[in-house]
Amino acid sequence: MLATVSSAAVFGIEALPVFIEIEVSSRGLPGVTVVGLPHASVKESKDRVRSALRSCGFQYRAQKVTINLSPAWIPKHGPSFDLPIALGLLQGYNLLPPLSSQTLIAGELSLDGTIRPISGILPIIIMAAQRGYTHLFIPTENENQCMMTSSVTCYAASHLRDIVLHITGKRKLSPVVHTKTIPPYSTSLDLLQSFSGQEHALRTAQIAAAGRHHTLFIGPPGVGKTMLAHGISSLLPPLDNDEYLEVSAIQSRSPTQLLPPRQPPFRAPHARSTTLQMFGGGHSLLPGELTFAHRGVLFLDELPAFSSEILQGLRIPLEEHVLRHSVEGHTLEFPCRFLFLAAMNPCPCGYAYSMDHVCTCSPSKIRQYLHRISSPLLDRIDLQVTLHDFSPGQNAPGSDIESRVSSIQQAWNIQQTRYKNTQNTANGELTSKNITQYCPLSHEVSAYLRICLEKLKISHRKYVSIIRVARTIADLETQKNIEKRHIAEAVQSCVRIE
Ligand SMILES: [Zn+2]
Repeated sequence: MLATVSSAAVFGIEALPVFIEIEVSSRGLPGVTVVGLPHASVKESKDRVRSALRSCGFQYRAQKVTINLSPAWIPKHGPSFDLPIALGLLQGYNLLPPLSSQTLIAGELSLDGTIRPISGILPIIIMAAQRGYTHLFIPTENENQCMMTSSVTCYAASHLRDIVLHITGKRKLSPVVHTKTIPPYSTSLDLLQSFSGQEHALRTAQIAAAGRHHTLFIGPPGVGKTMLAHGISSLLPPLDNDEYLEVSAIQSRSPTQLLPPRQPPFRAPHARSTTLQMFGGGHSLLPGELTFAHRGVLFLDELPAFSSEILQGLRIPLEEHVLRHSVEGHTLEFPCRFLFLAAMNPCPCGYAYSMDHVCTCSPSKIRQYLHRISSPLLDRIDLQVTLHDFSPGQNAPGSDIESRVSSIQQAWNIQQTRYKNTQNTANGELTSKNITQYCPLSHEVSAYLRICLEKLKISHRKYVSIIRVARTIADLETQKNIEKRHIAEAVQSCVRIE
């Protein structure tokens, strides 16, 4: 007897359909064989399924069972095939009627038949909707991620028995009602209020958020570098529907099963993170921190403390906004279009420019410390801000947060129109290839910039950086053309660690 059940494998951050064929034969030696590139976790499935079926009162018969997972080239990881294999076996034993080929099933089974949640449910739901599946069976604990899927009837079950009773028509499950609303977007500008009086810090935050410019904060410990990073993140506009779905699909690959809010993600991995944790990939094909920060912020505190492999590895994703991993001859792409914020001390002890503390570092130690951040990486960071000791909450003129927020919104609207129908989302993503197309300069401004470049011995990448930042400064003033004063301010904001 041959039974077929449809399921899905999550490959990177996308799901692909997997067809499970189960042949139960009375000929041959009794036993279960799983073929079709199954990972060890999938091979273990047969033991969980055997116990789960017994717990539900079904006899696991001593027959020859062959389970084929196709297509064979997709590596299959994780326990999400338990539930479809169990249902396929029951069909193979003639205990269940065949399921429609438009029905997709995914879920992990515990030994007593309870259905456990799985990671990556949202990519599976999105794929089911795109490929015309009509019915979907998923674990109850994944139910909250079952949104924006009006074309697929979704059933959530917490026990194998519930699905068996549903399929045999003895007790129907109710389809999941999509009443859960997306958690609302809330801005918190309190963090930035703390920087009242630090005009340089607030201005940098404003430019960084308006044009999505990668930024480096330098300052002694406890000066508020992390707070400023959170402040910039809170200035970013909420995710639109497409972005939200994309981000939620990625977040569903993380162990947390929570529906993320509309806010762009904020990821702050520890300096001791491994390259696998940062860039993703490996055997399990999980996304890394760079991909979890997609459409949001990646904040690296204590930048020089990260391994040189990670610091070097950041260069390409910062420019191309994608990470590529090769698996079984196929190239897998993880998106990583994030705003990069980083913080560091001015020297190993942290007090090089402090007025209250004495720096204990030798000049050579300071040089060695600063050189951990290579020039090619620094060239990809548009803005630098030096923070000093300050008294929080000190109100000063010129720190009007509300008007800054409205100018950022205006700049975003201008950029949305400018980059309509392109891959770009903001000025900070312009490259040397398209900078002249979007940021033409008058002869006078060009000549002025050339003088700045010659005097300051600025690299070509930094030259592009200056024009990008000048474009954002002009957008904040809703100015069509880039003027000399925009260039002058952009040059000042340039990263230059000596
Ligand atoms: Zn020091």
